[in-house]
Amino acid sequence: MTKQPAELALMAAAGRLLASVFGMLDRVPLAGKSTLDIDTLVERFIVDDLQSRPASKGQYGYGFVLNSSVNEVVCHGVPSQSVVLRDGDIVNFDITLEKDGYIADSSKTYLVGDVDPVARRLVQTTYDAMWKGIRAVRPGARLGDVGWAIERHAKRNGCSVVREYCGHGIGREMHEEPQVLHYGTRGTGLTLHEGMVFTIEPMLNRGGRSVRTEADGWTVVTRDGSLSAQFEHTVAVTATGVSVLTLRPEEGGMLSAAKNL
Ligand code: MG
Repeated sequence: MTKQPAELALMAAAGRLLASVFGMLDRVPLAGKSTLDIDTLVERFIVDDLQSRPASKGQYGYGFVLNSSVNEVVCHGVPSQSVVLRDGDIVNFDITLEKDGYIADSSKTYLVGDVDPVARRLVQTTYDAMWKGIRAVRPGARLGDVGWAIERHAKRNGCSVVREYCGHGIGREMHEEPQVLHYGTRGTGLTLHEGMVFTIEPMLNRGGRSVRTEADGWTVVTRDGSLSAQFEHTVAVTATGVSVLTLRPEEGGMLSAAKNL
């Protein structure tokens, strides 16, 4: 579970490459594109421009490089030519990348065009909840501290936290120990120590937390049809705190307490 410095350097390199995928996506006008168009675009970028491997393709028999989860889709939305992004949608792209044997995992929820304030608030709350969880990571902290911080922020803002899916250790394998729950009790759970690497990836719903899986066996939606959002970073426990391996350039200030989120 603990990574050595040489492994951490490789994981940081994979994380930086994955961050650049989102940098590329940020410049793509999404309205009018299908989620399969985005999948194709991202696959070309990862393979041709970054000389890396899209780690999700082929994992568990999955045929695509990303999950595209629109509006009430919680996670694991399957890219499709028939799902065309429209003004007002929110869409999460969850992407993994392997370079030199190590995998990074990150996701971001995008606003497509003019999104109504309720949906914008859900997306912002989810992003802030992820950062609350990330800021709880340091040597000696417990995994329950992370989940507690996320759930508290969600509840305070009228959102529920999905419990069926969690963050995970990551390294040579996409899913390693431990499981990182996005709810919990402070002072409980695994004690964190330097060299651990895992994802924090809360899914928040505007309505109830219940979800169901659709007939395709992949797509997970909210039971009540309410909107759902997600953000994800891959983080490493350092000697004094946390390093966000998939940090994007515009997020440089997010770790500082001055933000007071
Ligand atoms: Mg993940």
